[in-house]
Amino acid sequence: MKDIIRHHSYSISFIVVLLGVVFLYDRGDREVYQLNGFTMGTSYQFQIANFPDGLDEDDLANDIGELLEDLDRGTFSTYAQDSELSKFNQHSLNTPFPASAKLIEVLLLAQQISSLSDGAFDITVGPLVNLWGFGPVIKMEDSSPAQNEIDEALGRVNFRSLLIDASKSEISKSQDIYVDLSAIAKGYAVDEVASHFDDIGIDNYFLEIGGELKIKGLKSGGESWVPAIETPMDSESQIYQIFFNRGDSIAVAGSGDYRNYFEEEGIRYSHEIDPRNGRPISHTLAASYVIDDSVARADALATTFMVLGLDQSIELAERLGQAVYFIYKDENGDANGFSAYVSDKFDQYLTNEE
Ligand code: ADP
Ligand code: MG
Repeated sequence: MKDIIRHHSYSISFIVVLLGVVFLYDRGDREVYQLNGFTMGTSYQFQIANFPDGLDEDDLANDIGELLEDLDRGTFSTYAQDSELSKFNQHSLNTPFPASAKLIEVLLLAQQISSLSDGAFDITVGPLVNLWGFGPVIKMEDSSPAQNEIDEALGRVNFRSLLIDASKSEISKSQDIYVDLSAIAKGYAVDEVASHFDDIGIDNYFLEIGGELKIKGLKSGGESWVPAIETPMDSESQIYQIFFNRGDSIAVAGSGDYRNYFEEEGIRYSHEIDPRNGRPISHTLAASYVIDDSVARADALATTFMVLGLDQSIELAERLGQAVYFIYKDENGDANGFSAYVSDKFDQYLTNEE
């Protein structure tokens, strides 16, 4: 008998959680305004402190709804067959495809992260994601695929087969690739919402889509926002570490192996796939958090680190001078068997004092 448990969680890695109480006390206060909804297969929550006078709440909600719809179903979705990305995925080989500025921007950033990680991050990983049952192609059963199927899918995975001509706003592919932006699009959407808020004079916010965050300014009482990192376990949510933006504008993204996975014969198969061997990641790094200016970049890097594993990730984070927080399984760790690696740049946010 196979012991198979599938863990479906739509909020793909809801690993940065809000301290709910912080906001409950502010209810009824017009100065904290909340927008909630669903996009990109997950939920979003946008908190605004000191809501600007003269801004209409309904107009704002409509504008944000439209912006997200355009980014999701209109542009990046692989679930919607008529999104821009789906059309490119169906487009013929070696033929230019006119792409929007948004799609080009995300693809260029993704290619950059692929280069600096030597292919650990690869948006052409789609065929493998589907093969392992984590994409839009529904699998009838949860089981690991055969090696020949993995090899076949691997043959279609190569970020270098995606060609971007930014000057002509055109993209093309030299091989039958399938692009999956799940590890970067949510972050990009948070960036877009943030820049819309910046444009219309909203200066104090806590934005979150599926665990990817952009935080700016302060709460209405003038205190720091307090994001929290969850203990990387699939049981009920438990806070592992809180930190503080202290008024800074920061992007935070996280990635973990404990929310979206299936188990077969005691082995956990997670939705982060190593494009170099075609298999779900399997190592001691349980969750990675990244602080950056761009949520899209933080999002992509968080996944990259999960694929690289602890040692290579520490090396890369040091090379990039990146603010990172890694939680890894450790025999000598805490009661749950975890220890953390915190880079200096991240460390400064662990205290609320300047
Ligand atoms: P979440 O979606 O919970 O934020 P991630 O940001 O780590 O989690 O994204 C995981 C998703 O990214 C997977 O579901 C898959 O679609 C895609 N993915 C998996 N492995 C890779 C990889 N090596 N490079 C790029 N994208 C990947
Ligand atoms: Mg992510």
